[in-house]
Amino acid sequence: MQRSTKIVATLGPASSDEAVLRRMVQAGVNIVRLNFSHGSADDHRARVELLRRITHDTGTTVGIMADLQGPKIRVGKFEHGHIDLAPGDRFILDIACKLGNQERVGLDYPELIDDLEPGAVLLLDDGRIVLDVLEVLTQEIVTTVRVGGPLSNNKGINRQGGGLTAPALTTKDRQDIRTAAELGVDFVAVSFPKNGDDMRQARKLLTRAGSAALLVAKIERAEAIDALADILDATDAVMVARGDLAVEVGDAAVPALQKKIIRMAREHNRVTITATQMMESMITSPVPTRAEVSDVANAVLDGTDAVMLSAETASGKYPVETLEAMARICLEAEKSAEVTLDKDVLDRVFTRIDQSIAMAAIWTAYHLKVKAIAALTQSGSTALWMSRINSGVPIYALTPEVNSRYKMSMYRDVFPLLMKQMDTDRDRLLWQAEQLLIEQGVVAPGDLIVLTIGEPIGVAGGTNTLKIVRVGEHPPPQP
Ligand code: PGA
Ligand code: MN
Repeated sequence: MQRSTKIVATLGPASSDEAVLRRMVQAGVNIVRLNFSHGSADDHRARVELLRRITHDTGTTVGIMADLQGPKIRVGKFEHGHIDLAPGDRFILDIACKLGNQERVGLDYPELIDDLEPGAVLLLDDGRIVLDVLEVLTQEIVTTVRVGGPLSNNKGINRQGGGLTAPALTTKDRQDIRTAAELGVDFVAVSFPKNGDDMRQARKLLTRAGSAALLVAKIERAEAIDALADILDATDAVMVARGDLAVEVGDAAVPALQKKIIRMAREHNRVTITATQMMESMITSPVPTRAEVSDVANAVLDGTDAVMLSAETASGKYPVETLEAMARICLEAEKSAEVTLDKDVLDRVFTRIDQSIAMAAIWTAYHLKVKAIAALTQSGSTALWMSRINSGVPIYALTPEVNSRYKMSMYRDVFPLLMKQMDTDRDRLLWQAEQLLIEQGVVAPGDLIVLTIGEPIGVAGGTNTLKIVRVGEHPPPQP
């Protein structure tokens, strides 16, 4: 059995070496994430080139996601790199401060001052440090430490409950969108969007830069939860960005939100990534904790398309082992998942012809218990619609479009295969498709498969035909 849930792995110092990246590709990474919060454009370019070289050799499909930094507000640097805060200490965030000390530290977003009032609560370093705002002056935010601990250079700041006005796309993000377009990435993730308009603006900038990458909205602000339907309307995919989300809405609210976001996204025909601290202990340990195993498995059972690794593969000691462990957990969880297709399908509303064929194909494939679905697709839409329904049947998406192949690398249950050319003769094309599946070891003569195709052949959005085929039944067509 092939793993249906996809794995996104962040690249960083621990995974930029050719030998390691090669082993990660072998271990089945589906998408690599370039984290634009760290590293230069040249670092990202070098990683893209290295990955492309490796996947060219191995013939594997690995998508690339650029993750924009967004308006993450951070403290400045400290004279000695870090300080220690104790409960009850007075601590000042000072926009004029160049190098911090035990009393005060600088801030990379001076406008924070306008968003705060006495009584507000600030969470630093993903909530490890909690500060109560006492006073807001023109240059300084005076606080008392509620929960202390070590605080080092450039740690993030969130406001409890959300409500910061920083725009989702910073000047750096705009430049990074151009870099991402140049690198030809397949996905661009937008950090901290508040609403659909933030995503529409990102789309505009991306299109202007000449990229048709899929957009990922990172759901990590309290406001984004209220605007979820609007965001889903404007994006291709969402990330359950549990790190910042937990800080804004409280950690205990996140598990239920994860389920809700995944369910809503699937209903909207959108793709989902579940992210952050999934295998956190494997940054320093060669085996995961029981809790991490459960977390990854539960995300799979929630119906996520992809699970993501951050520091585990970017800077951890065991990038390859983490990936292998995650793959193994996903596969096992998939085997145990219950398929409730009938209810899923009956709830769907659709009016398009191509979508009707996709729904009919998945329904048929499930009830006939076919070995595989073969979707001959240009844009990948048929494969996307089919994959929003959990049928337990693998979907092989045969496409001549290189870009579609990479985008589909994130869709759960979809295995993209490149067809060198689409024969315009239907019988020959179907025969070629069958041969490709046999060659890949997916089906054998005698197996039943469901095929979808658009006629005339080669038009995007033209899927209008469903065919049920017993493999090997038809003789090869005459040339
Ligand atoms: P980040 O986003 O890792 O870029 O902060 C993910 C998250 O917040 O969970
Ligand atoms: Mn985040």
